[in-house]
Amino acid sequence: MEKATALAKLKALQAKMHAYNHASSMIYYDAVTTAPEGTDEGRGETLAILSGESYHLFINPETDEVLSTLEACIDELSEAEARQVKLLRRSYKKTCCIPQQEYMDYQLLVNSAESVWHKAKNENDFASFAPYLEKLVETNRRFAAYYDSEHHPYDVMLDDYEQGMTRVELDRFFADLRAKIVPLIETIREEQAAVRDDFLYRHYPVEGQRKLADRLMEVMGIDRSHCGLAETLHPFTITFNKNDVRITTNYEENSLASSIYSVVHEGGHALYELNTADEFENTCLAGGVSMGIHESQSRLYENIIGRSRGFSAIVYRLSREIFPEQLADVSEEEFYKAINKSIPSLIRTEADEVTYCLHVMVRYEIEKALFDGTVKVADLPTVWAEKMKAYLGVDVPDDAHGVLQDSHWSGGSFGYFPSYAVGSAYSAQIAAKVGEMIDFDGCVARGEISKITDILREGLYRFGCLYDPGELLARFCGKPFDPTYYTDYLVKKYGK
Ligand code: ZN
Repeated sequence: MEKATALAKLKALQAKMHAYNHASSMIYYDAVTTAPEGTDEGRGETLAILSGESYHLFINPETDEVLSTLEACIDELSEAEARQVKLLRRSYKKTCCIPQQEYMDYQLLVNSAESVWHKAKNENDFASFAPYLEKLVETNRRFAAYYDSEHHPYDVMLDDYEQGMTRVELDRFFADLRAKIVPLIETIREEQAAVRDDFLYRHYPVEGQRKLADRLMEVMGIDRSHCGLAETLHPFTITFNKNDVRITTNYEENSLASSIYSVVHEGGHALYELNTADEFENTCLAGGVSMGIHESQSRLYENIIGRSRGFSAIVYRLSREIFPEQLADVSEEEFYKAINKSIPSLIRTEADEVTYCLHVMVRYEIEKALFDGTVKVADLPTVWAEKMKAYLGVDVPDDAHGVLQDSHWSGGSFGYFPSYAVGSAYSAQIAAKVGEMIDFDGCVARGEISKITDILREGLYRFGCLYDPGELLARFCGKPFDPTYYTDYLVKKYGK
């Protein structure tokens, strides 16, 4: 095959894959937002057909030939073309290395594991889920070896979510976290428990919260002609292309902060997606590069900007305009303290900024031990409770509030959790770098968020998936990932 032919085929292939993906995501989005409840069946069939078609479109001898042709002349390709070849080869190899029968058996296992987990969580019965978890761990260990038998299986899995991330780097990161944050929690415990936040749980009608969400997206500089906001039980962000991003939120009538900070969080994901380069559209370089970098952006807007003094004053002012009675007896200072209140708790998804990463650390240590074979599945409830006590000082009353709380393992996702914590840590290093270029706090206080976004667009967003996450971060910050930015940020903010 000629190089020019291969390049043309590569372009056409990616455009088609994108179209299939666009259709499937749109159907999924419709299902979780507006579709009536009795519409599952036909949609399931359509999605299965689309996913089969898209598999065969990608995995076939011609794709292999296109990639081999371009690999043979990789030095003659542009940086973006060479990167596309590299990324597509990686996913081609990942998909092909698992024997088809084993892959189908695994799909069935995940299907049953998910429903068993649901039931086990509701009935607080870890023992019924344990055999499935054992099989999931064993199968994932085997699959990791099919793809790459030279590296530790857990490193192979980490690489799925955060390319280049390893246990060595994470061990260093979590050691720093353990050394600085565990004692910090102890120091601030009493003072934080006394912080007044009752007013956040007064009655806030949904209509007003919707208005507030619109205002917040405006302050963040999100272009609503390219970014929709819908309502779902669990908030998320989905991208159809860089001009069509959707975020969702959930309004709770008795909680003001929950929808505010989910909108700011998902808004951060959206800003990243909306600002990738035009030239990468319809290729595998479009969109955010990794879970960790994505989470760094959502958390930068949610926590570092969103829960700062300056931004909290803006949120306070907007909230008072819409809910004057509910907030009549609340000062700006009280509002700031309330949205930053830190109390060790049992559930990761409800955790505050200080304690969040320790929840992730518990999961990281357990996953690592499972794949090392140093911890048995049957012992997880005990191990979980011990770690929660040691790091967060909380007593786990039952498995539903402990080892069974997250859905990730039942779906076969191992190595996913660390990217949440790593993202938080990236965000502090990135914010510090932005702070060297402009008056970060001043911009936030004046509501000039788009000045920060402009810097992030130029230094991070526009590169899409052109670089691995570690390289992207190092290019922007001028040095490699350094977790101490994050622990320093927390100690400085909460140590006061
Ligand atoms: Zn997120």
